[in-house]
Amino acid sequence: MLLEGQGINALNHLTIGGCDSLELCEKYGTPLYVIDENVVREHCRLYKKSIDEFYNGNGLVFFASKALCNLEMIRVVNSEGLGADSVSAGELYTVLKAGMDSEKICIHGNNKTDEELEYAIKNRVGRIVIDDVSEIKKVDKIAKANNIRQKVLFRIKPGIDAHTHEFIMTGQIDCKFGFALETGEAEEAICKALEYDNIIVAGVHCHIGSQIFESEPFKEAAKVLVNFMADIKDKTGYEMFELNLGGGFGVTYTEKDDPIKFNKYIEEVSAIIKEECAKRNLVLPFVMMEPGRSIVGTAGVTLYKAGAIKDIPGIRCYVSVDGGMTDNPRYILYQAEYTALVANKAGDEKTEVVTLAGKCCESGDLLGENMPIQKVESGDIIAVLTTGAYNYSMASNYNRVPRPAMVMVKNGESRVIVKRETFEDLVRNDI
Ligand SMILES: *Cc1c(COP(=O)(O)O)cnc(C)c1O
Repeated sequence: MLLEGQGINALNHLTIGGCDSLELCEKYGTPLYVIDENVVREHCRLYKKSIDEFYNGNGLVFFASKALCNLEMIRVVNSEGLGADSVSAGELYTVLKAGMDSEKICIHGNNKTDEELEYAIKNRVGRIVIDDVSEIKKVDKIAKANNIRQKVLFRIKPGIDAHTHEFIMTGQIDCKFGFALETGEAEEAICKALEYDNIIVAGVHCHIGSQIFESEPFKEAAKVLVNFMADIKDKTGYEMFELNLGGGFGVTYTEKDDPIKFNKYIEEVSAIIKEECAKRNLVLPFVMMEPGRSIVGTAGVTLYKAGAIKDIPGIRCYVSVDGGMTDNPRYILYQAEYTALVANKAGDEKTEVVTLAGKCCESGDLLGENMPIQKVESGDIIAVLTTGAYNYSMASNYNRVPRPAMVMVKNGESRVIVKRETFEDLVRNDI
């Protein structure tokens, strides 16, 4: 299985964005994160085009920056006209520094600190998503001190059961994010916010989970939210005018994955919004979406060098690489599955099944178990696909392993966008 932008050249090497993966390793070292710029841009364009086509362009797509937050990545999505979501002051700092127009920034988080709220509002972010009643008063106060009226959305738990891992499922009532509908707390919070002069109650938001493969839960969530907006209008006379449907679209990690086409999803969800608004006599809201994984996930590949190979007869074969949970903690976190191949034998048949292990002092430090792969020898380059999202952004320095470099490739050219960490970086803050 290869993904968009990937191929096999005459040397039987994996190519990414037209670059020979072996040459990339020689030039930049391993482990190495590789991001294909054209793939990222294509995904951004598909989202935008679909909103233009199916919803008259009456919306905005935000890149969920937590998926991969560095200056060049944000510059790329910015140049495609997307906005950005930030969940922390650090993400906001990065997004602003990359030149994103603050009006196109949306702030999230279930426990934004006072400092974070102040930093966001002072920088005139377009929207803050209120996640807890305590934020209403705080936002109003800071906005007043800065002489502005702050647009806010309310994060709603629509009570949808999206079939995904429970750590990344966020739409049900037992969840640390947002306001439940069933208990009336969402309505209460909105009514309360309407009393404050420096808050503009723009609309509602939901994010039902991540790596979701069915369009039904998304459509159901949209329906629930539109009807909630209508209920609020009926009860208070106030009509909200924005609807943020979050992210969560699944991507291909292994052959088993069959992601929904997001243009198809946008077509279907647009129809539902129009239908429900007509039924309930609402003006069509400005629609927002917040994809993270589906923008950058499949655009990324991590390249490692294979080292020790331990074939335990009758048990399994461990192939250890020069990275692991420090650059990709998703396996140890939630047994995420990946596709691997030997980059220097990319066209060969996958005749082996191995456990790909990292180099950290944890038995759970694996990149995958039972992975079909070509015959591996020590010194081979191993490529793990679909590592663009939630890999670098979740990376750590456990065992004092420096974070790898990240290169962006495009049409056969490559450039470093994040430098490899040095040992000096590791002790920078030590006294
Ligand atoms: C994580 C997150 C997203 C992005 O989710 P993906 O699954 O990467 O698309 C969007 N919105 C919010 C509020 C999130 O927490």
